[in-house]
Amino acid sequence: MSDLASHISSVENAHPDAAIIVLGDFNHTNLSTELPNYHQQVTCPSRGNTLDHCYTPLKEAYRASAGAPLGNGLKTRNPILFSCCLVLVGSCILLYLRYLANFVPVDNLPANREGKLRRIINLDDTLHFGARQGVETCTSWKAPIIWEGMFESDLYDQKHIQNQTSVALTVFAVGRYLDAYLKTFLTSAEQHFMLGLKVTYYVFTDLPEKVPSIELAPNRNVKIMQVEKHSRWQDISMMRMKTISDAIESDIHHHCNYVFCFDVDQEFKGRFGSEALGDSVALLHAWYYNAPNNSYTYDRNPRSKAFMETGDYYYHAAVFGGLLEKVKNLTDYCFLNIMEDKLNNVEALWHDESHLNKYFWINKPSRLLSPEYCWDQVIMEKSDINIMRLIWAPKDYVGLRPLATKNTN
Ligand code: UDP
Ligand code: MN
Repeated sequence: MSDLASHISSVENAHPDAAIIVLGDFNHTNLSTELPNYHQQVTCPSRGNTLDHCYTPLKEAYRASAGAPLGNGLKTRNPILFSCCLVLVGSCILLYLRYLANFVPVDNLPANREGKLRRIINLDDTLHFGARQGVETCTSWKAPIIWEGMFESDLYDQKHIQNQTSVALTVFAVGRYLDAYLKTFLTSAEQHFMLGLKVTYYVFTDLPEKVPSIELAPNRNVKIMQVEKHSRWQDISMMRMKTISDAIESDIHHHCNYVFCFDVDQEFKGRFGSEALGDSVALLHAWYYNAPNNSYTYDRNPRSKAFMETGDYYYHAAVFGGLLEKVKNLTDYCFLNIMEDKLNNVEALWHDESHLNKYFWINKPSRLLSPEYCWDQVIMEKSDINIMRLIWAPKDYVGLRPLATKNTN
């Protein structure tokens, strides 16, 4: 049953706007014990007993009533016809529910009266794309760009709590970065990152014994994973792609639906919540979000796999995330291309960030975060920034990076 429940949850997460109906002939079990928001719709005997089950999260959207006998005879004499009937009934219910989703005003949905959110609603339809003047709130491929004022945080939170969404946050603190940044990063994440959701922090470090212990809210925990310390800082940064990919495969996929990957040299200052979750999430770089395309610092060396002449936006590699399979795809892509560059004795201009930009050029992200989600306070012009959710910590490349000789980036 728990396997079935977790499969259903992953289908819900992958298709948040779908109406899900679970049909079955399972006599001795009750799906509602595993998924309390699913209701058994068959309330009358289907053959002497109530044998057939039909679960939906929409208690009042469908009512069972007894019809002419179909059971014994049809099911045993003509199993193919019986299966066809079942599929037909399922499809009709699905169409009916889709119709409901399209035409019932949100406020009238019974679940809203109960103060709950129905899973049938595509939450992104509630975004206020006109809420912000002077900034772009939607890409040409119709992905939302999330700015303060566009979303109703309660709706997103309720939905993800109801779906039992669980988020992995990966962060690397290798060498001197651990002492310098990790404690502030984690304690501030506990105050602002995905509050109310199940969160697991995956801390990758070469110094596991030095990871500070911090107070965690219930439903949240830290996993420390040891990694080697590459001698060049460029490799520490780039090899994160391989480590994240491996961790998704070996551990994260057992526990979480989403993964968000962060640089450690940052501090949360405001809500960084479930509105940021999406299939494939990229962050607009604070220094380039309103700069012309030709100023973006893509890799311009045709010998590198990260080479690109033009693109959509300049994305910042300090924050990216999404569904596990999407992030795995991204990290595998970047890692393979980084390794191919190494074979060719070439390194992309901004290392993993150049490859990430290439990836998102080819595989468009489904959700973009505005620079409110990662702001550099050094930038004087901040009239577009209504809230700072995460800020860059002061950089000290010479003091902290191995083999660093000068300030870069
Ligand atoms: N990092 C680390 N130790 C290092 C260099 C990098 O742990 O010696 C990790 C850390 O998580 C850091 C990330 O790699 O935030 C990217 O490096 P950095 O923040 O220096 O890059 P930048 O923000 O300048 O692009
Ligand atoms: Mn950084």
